Amino acid sequence: MRVFLGGIVTETNTFSPIPTGASEWEVVRDLAEAHAGSALLAVRDEATARGDELFFGLSAFAMPAGIAVRAAYEDLREALLAGVRAALPLDAVILPLHGAMVADGFEDAEADVIERVRAIVGADAVIGVHIDLHCHLSERMLANADAIVIYKEYPHTDMADRARDLYRIVADTVAGKVRPTMAMVDCRMMGIYPTSAEPMRSFVDAMLAAEGEPGVLSLSLAHGFPWGDVPDSGTRMLAVTDGDAAAAERLAEAWARRFYDLRHTAGVRPLALDAAIDRATEARADVDGPVVVADQADNAGGGAPADATFVLLRLIERGVENAAVALMWDPIAHHLARSAGVGARLRLRLGGKMGPASGEPLDLDVTVMGLVDGLVQQWPQTDGTYAQPAGDAAHLRVHGLVDGARVPGGVDVIVNTRRGQVLGLEPFTAFGIGMDPGRILVVKSIQHFYAAYGPVAGEVIYMAAPGAVAPIMEQIPLVRADLRRYPWVEDPWPEREAG
Ligand SMILES: [Zn+2]
Repeated sequence: MRVFLGGIVTETNTFSPIPTGASEWEVVRDLAEAHAGSALLAVRDEATARGDELFFGLSAFAMPAGIAVRAAYEDLREALLAGVRAALPLDAVILPLHGAMVADGFEDAEADVIERVRAIVGADAVIGVHIDLHCHLSERMLANADAIVIYKEYPHTDMADRARDLYRIVADTVAGKVRPTMAMVDCRMMGIYPTSAEPMRSFVDAMLAAEGEPGVLSLSLAHGFPWGDVPDSGTRMLAVTDGDAAAAERLAEAWARRFYDLRHTAGVRPLALDAAIDRATEARADVDGPVVVADQADNAGGGAPADATFVLLRLIERGVENAAVALMWDPIAHHLARSAGVGARLRLRLGGKMGPASGEPLDLDVTVMGLVDGLVQQWPQTDGTYAQPAGDAAHLRVHGLVDGARVPGGVDVIVNTRRGQVLGLEPFTAFGIGMDPGRILVVKSIQHFYAAYGPVAGEVIYMAAPGAVAPIMEQIPLVRADLRRYPWVEDPWPEREAG
């Protein structure tokens, strides 16, 4: 078959102070440049194995931030659509998108892309869409797609697996072996649901097992993205069956209800800032490995600036030694540290630059301990590891505030020039900070860190410090979203309404 591959991927935090402008997009125009372990390469390998003719357009990715600048979005979209036109006639189109992109003027940007692709390829071509579970799954997206497959794992270690699932459904559809029919049901919830712990682990495993049943092509839970304030924000269940619309409806309803019944246990209960530090300092004497504290609220992967100072300030004020924080995005502070060089001791203003959600800048007495240009993080995936550039980085030892609290042994901070969350161990290990017992490692990440740190951590603590993506649902200033859902309403889907 003749199949086109291409997409535009970003997750929009509609509250983020950072615009997603033209320079934020990293555009891959040749599959040879695609990330190892990515969905793009999984699709390429499937196409090669089957002898299909693959036409690659482009794949654009922007680190999650604020609303996409209209002209930049439209330019990328038109370049993608031009690729589709150039590849006509097509049997199929595979679109790796995100599902939570908001552009100025396009509240449901993925639906906009899918509709325009449909208008070009016609009703007979098969359109398969591959999206992140942090999506705003919408009727508009379903309307012009034949099959949508969503990642199941959080951390997202299965992007390539789900791309292969989608490719097989699309290829079987083109071959006339199956006829996908989709149904979606709103779970009337919103939250953050890591799949590394129960009850989510079993829920994901049960979805995978159910996909082996006759007539079931795919089951997906769209967790939703709570920091995207749009009408379709929220958790939804998606079922894809083979030619049986009623079965798809029944299945989506039953699984949505099954997930709804987990609403009190599916999310994590993060500790407040000081409670998390208390727990970390207690736990570190007892566990075999570092205590890893997730600063969930300053996760760049959710659109936060990653320059918040709340946690670092408390570590200094409380005199917590043998602790390290990564990755603090502050290109100016990095520039000064790099100019001063390894071994230099200087006064440095760090972080707190991007807005009120980042806290105050800290004036610190620091020593530059190390410099690494071109730091790359290795994020574990089912297909090997996904290499994620983190820019240039500096290891600072903070001795204390210039006019305030001191920490005799110092607190370590890794400052970098390219905004991004902690995905691999490298932000620490590249500077000789090992995964030793007794250490506290603060990672700016909600959950993706877990793929690398889960296996080596003595304990993992989820923390709700202040910040741009503070993980307390009721504190998110949502206006456009429909809040007739848990946790705003205790039982928004009573049993008597079900069925
Ligand atoms: Zn995601």
